[in-house]
Amino acid sequence: MSQITKCRICESPHIQKFLSLGATPPANSFPEPGHDAECEVSFPLELFLCEKCGLVQLGYTVPPEILFKNYLYFSSTVETLKRHFADFAAEIAEKYAGDNGLVVEIGSNDGVLLKNFQGKQVRALGFEPAANVAKAAREAGVDTINDFFNSSTAAKLKEERGTANVIIANNVFAHVAGLHDLVRGMEILLAQQGVMIIEFHHLASLYSHMEFDSIYHEHLCYYSLKPVMHLFGMFGMEVFDVKKIPIHGGSLRIYVQKKGGGHAISQNVQAILNEEETLGLYKLETYRDFAGKIASIRDELLAMLKKLKSEGKRVAGYGAPAKCTTLLNYFGIGPGLVEYIVDRSPSKQNRLVPGVHVPICGPERLKSDRPDYLLILAWNISEEIMKQQSEFRASGGKFIVPIPRPEIL
Ligand code: SAM
Repeated sequence: MSQITKCRICESPHIQKFLSLGATPPANSFPEPGHDAECEVSFPLELFLCEKCGLVQLGYTVPPEILFKNYLYFSSTVETLKRHFADFAAEIAEKYAGDNGLVVEIGSNDGVLLKNFQGKQVRALGFEPAANVAKAAREAGVDTINDFFNSSTAAKLKEERGTANVIIANNVFAHVAGLHDLVRGMEILLAQQGVMIIEFHHLASLYSHMEFDSIYHEHLCYYSLKPVMHLFGMFGMEVFDVKKIPIHGGSLRIYVQKKGGGHAISQNVQAILNEEETLGLYKLETYRDFAGKIASIRDELLAMLKKLKSEGKRVAGYGAPAKCTTLLNYFGIGPGLVEYIVDRSPSKQNRLVPGVHVPICGPERLKSDRPDYLLILAWNISEEIMKQQSEFRASGGKFIVPIPRPEIL
């Protein structure tokens, strides 16, 4: 674990702390019942703003070997993501991959996106450091290198298979401590006229919708477009287009090329920069205000849950995404207030939420045991969840959505 002294992108020492969410265990570490609680390690969760380039980032870096060697997040368990990445792959195949071109995905997880190239004239290859997840991808027939992507693994791949027409990196830019080396690797591997397509949770959404529970140790950086453009500029590359994507509560998809590549710069780029400026995303006051609002959400949700409990109502949770670790730990919500959580992912079932130790089980439990309320912790797919749980609602059950403000639906 190490504490930063300068910005992770522009290396300015002018970084200011604006939020401390206490010390929490790694958000995806979900221990098994009966584990040795003394061995559960917590790390400080503190956020800083770089006053020079506008990057919001964590102060402490937990070593990636702790976070990513065995990983419990399988993207393919989320239907919304499966559909999203199928459409994404279709766009790549049609516009950018070329005939039998090499398409490389960084952080390819269980192959949720790359599976869609099967049967197409595309050489698809993933980089996935988590051995268990890479194994699932290979079993699904997706060519996967079980390693971290960086400048040396990129150079090795280029030697073996040539340059890539397309490099994809979805929801992984936030996870990488060595950002310069990551982007250097992308620059090495990308063909001169190649395109990189990258999705990340947009700081504008995180800020505007109070998605503070997306803050956890895996996510070292919280990106607005401006610092990302700075990062690619440092390595001779440029963002030529950007789109808003309704995934993970509001993401950006950016299109990047080597400077002087074939694509004209879209007006969308300046439009997003203007929006970020108007929201105040590069100013410290904005984040001090954000920190105050998180404290209000905590007070409201705790008051709501305690009141329900005093009325004899039972509350369970729906969804155990990594972000539930931040919310439940920072708010101090344990099994006394939320009895258990159901999650469709078998890798999370029969485990506990790190730190607060709320038990996790499969959704079938809701058929035999009917709580009065379901706190939706995977709020980014709340519509999918409410549709799946229409029976629960029809029999009088109610949903609580915690953010942007706690609300009973
Ligand atoms: N791309 C998938 C998606 O959008 O659903 C998975 C995103 S998941 C949040 C992040 C993934 O990146 C994990 O599977 C993790 O193991 C992987 N990862 C973390 N650091 C990486 C690195 N340096 N190179 C390649 N993959 C990495």
